[in-house]
Amino acid sequence: MAGEQARADLVDPFGRVIRDLRISVTDRCNFRCTYCMPAEGMEWLPRSEVLTFEEIHRVSRIFVERFGVEGIRLTGGEPTVRAHLPMLISQLSGLGVDLAMTTNGATLRNSAEELRSAGLRRINISLDTLHADRFEQMTRRNELENVLAGIDAAVAAGFSPVKINAVIERGVNDDEIVDLARFGRERGVEVRFIEFMPLDATGHWANDRVVGQDEIVERIAEVFPLEQMPARGAAPADRWRYLDGAGTVGVIPSVTKPFCGDCDRVRLTAEGQFRTCLFATDEFDLREIMRSGGDDDALAERIIAAVGTKWAGHQINRVEFIRPNRSMSQIGG
Ligand code: SAM
Ligand code: SF4
Repeated sequence: MAGEQARADLVDPFGRVIRDLRISVTDRCNFRCTYCMPAEGMEWLPRSEVLTFEEIHRVSRIFVERFGVEGIRLTGGEPTVRAHLPMLISQLSGLGVDLAMTTNGATLRNSAEELRSAGLRRINISLDTLHADRFEQMTRRNELENVLAGIDAAVAAGFSPVKINAVIERGVNDDEIVDLARFGRERGVEVRFIEFMPLDATGHWANDRVVGQDEIVERIAEVFPLEQMPARGAAPADRWRYLDGAGTVGVIPSVTKPFCGDCDRVRLTAEGQFRTCLFATDEFDLREIMRSGGDDDALAERIIAAVGTKWAGHQINRVEFIRPNRSMSQIGG
């Protein structure tokens, strides 16, 4: 009775209802950010192992139609390096979900409008520094100008809001917190500072490299007074409003103030492994079901079983924390 399934929320053992699906459309990337990938030696998945657009659409349809998922975010790796991405976006936009994407922005100058017309509604662009030399050190690519042009192109294409993701690492770019906040105010985009998480491929993460939310907010407020906005619900960012009316700024405090209690997110890797947390150590293979002729019920059952294992929260701050054996780019950030 395909298509006749009643909708039932996906509820995890702690009563959290899953509403948000993050899909990595590729593990590949045109950058090599130091907090994400090693300089050399990334081994990419063979193309045959990556989900096809039809497979991504099928899993997405099940999440939306059977389980009431309301938001889908495309990520990677770098989603824009996946060939024919606008085609996938227009297929997914037919599902009527809030469709968003996280990108490094390097190619948006040429593609923002096409992505928007294909049905992408929201966009987050990563930008950790405003200095060209530091940008090159942090991403191992000389692309700052292209990313800045990409941000302008996203605003011009009508994405609203455009958000900027800035990962802050102590001793690397923490001296730019106020400058990045100023950039957001001037460009009319919301900067969201992200605490550095232990998901770097090189394993150099250490607690003292994390700049916590309190410190970030304090440093901004010294220059641009702030007022905290009402609680975030399931959204990962805590948000503040500039008292002079020049917009808002956010912080994602994954390390110092984990928001796991409100988490409504699950993830699908580029090769079709389903994960219930960025830091999960278990994965559930959806591709294998699809490629061995399994039906939608079989997929739905595995998804339900997986959500039944979603844990209360990650353990970054505990000694028993186990690093997942994949980096952010392989999981899909
Ligand atoms: N390539 C795209 C990009 O960079 O925006 C999308 C994928 S990337 C893995 C998603 C987000 O994760 C980016 O904003 C990136 O800055 C962030 N990120 C990557 N590694 C991180 C880490 N170790 N800690 C915190 N954020 C990280
Ligand atoms: Fe690529 Fe994004 Fe990872 Fe940077 S953070 S290496 S842009 S996937």
